Amino acid sequence: MKRKRLAFILGIRPDVIRASLILKKLRADTECDLRFIWSGQHYSDNLKDIFFRELQVAAPDIELGAAGANDAEISASVIARLYPVLESLQPDAAVFLGDTNTVVGCLAAAQLNIPIVHIEGCMRSYDWRMPEEKYRSTIDHLSDVIYTYLPEYKQQGVAEGLNPDSIVVVGNPIVDVLNEYYFARQDHFACLASEQFFAARGIARDSYYLMTCHRRENVHQRESLGRILQLVSAADSTVYFPASYRTQKLLREFGLSLPSNLVITDPVGYEEFLVLMTRSRGILTDSGTVVEEACVLQIPCVQMRKSTERPQVYAVGAAVKFDPNLPEAYPIKAVLRKLTALQGKQWPNPFGDGRSSERIAEDLLRRLREDAFARHRPDCYHLDIAGSYREDGLIVVSRKPSNSPA
Ligand code: UDP
Repeated sequence: MKRKRLAFILGIRPDVIRASLILKKLRADTECDLRFIWSGQHYSDNLKDIFFRELQVAAPDIELGAAGANDAEISASVIARLYPVLESLQPDAAVFLGDTNTVVGCLAAAQLNIPIVHIEGCMRSYDWRMPEEKYRSTIDHLSDVIYTYLPEYKQQGVAEGLNPDSIVVVGNPIVDVLNEYYFARQDHFACLASEQFFAARGIARDSYYLMTCHRRENVHQRESLGRILQLVSAADSTVYFPASYRTQKLLREFGLSLPSNLVITDPVGYEEFLVLMTRSRGILTDSGTVVEEACVLQIPCVQMRKSTERPQVYAVGAAVKFDPNLPEAYPIKAVLRKLTALQGKQWPNPFGDGRSSERIAEDLLRRLREDAFARHRPDCYHLDIAGSYREDGLIVVSRKPSNSPA
């Protein structure tokens, strides 16, 4: 019997981290013919391959090599290169994760009538300036099945008219990854965190801040990037900053002078980054994933963003907000004071119980077995759509009750 086939499409560093356990479980299932496709958004060793090695994820089966000079070119390239691949693979479903140009590739699957699955669906910041908000809204409305992390995210999707029967709440897989990769190996990480490790990086253990900053709203404008450097300069310890290549380029182009307590380096692998996170006094970040990790790892954090899809970090008291574009509302001294006040505090983990990857993999495998992916079908709609199919007064579609099982 022909094995059922899943195409799993990813394209950037945090995708590999977040999907690592799901991919391993799917790969281990003998009934599932998994085809792991890499779009090519991230392509250098320290943004891509190192994560496969460290997290022991088998390398992609197919590399699309999508590229372009701007968002339109990159997403067009993902669609154009993914289309013939999916056309020839004819998978039972195409699985995407997150909110990048890579998920725009779901249009290729939609054009081929291949069911679409979206992991990390229904997250919203309600900040329409963000490209990510547009991409995740688009894929959610094209998806047959959505795995969302928390019940409140499902409510957001339902409020937009998404079919509640197609949205499965699973918890956030980053919790599982930290459990498996960090908490279960704390002795290993204690060995890595030697004095020499930190001395080689020009910092001292437990007395530096860690920063990441790559978001467009922050780095594409001289003023906001300058304001972030002011925050760094006012910090009472060294700030260690593995900076994305784009941020490094913009820092040079804007000709901003760098504070003397800032140490900039190229992006590092996950193991190194975990050592850096867990021995820092606090984290300054505009990354969606890092803010979740800081919260789960009990590290105080400044979230350098106007809006967030993760208000839970404020609700549990794990993070302080800093909007670099609103200097009056977020005075630097007050932000740093609040960050210091979080040191030594504990908060509950709002993101899940560590079984999300298992739930996602099991549900995907069940749907593969039962042919239960396609849900853009008349009998699956939760709306009264009979009028569309009415012919000569005859209603040809009978609607299922909206809470029927998938
Ligand atoms: N990360 C890493 N090395 C770095 C910076 C970040 O391994 O130099 C990890 C980090 O722990 C998190 C993910 O990469 O898991 C975040 O990536 P990024 O900030 O690019 O993505 P976002 O979450 O904003 O989509």
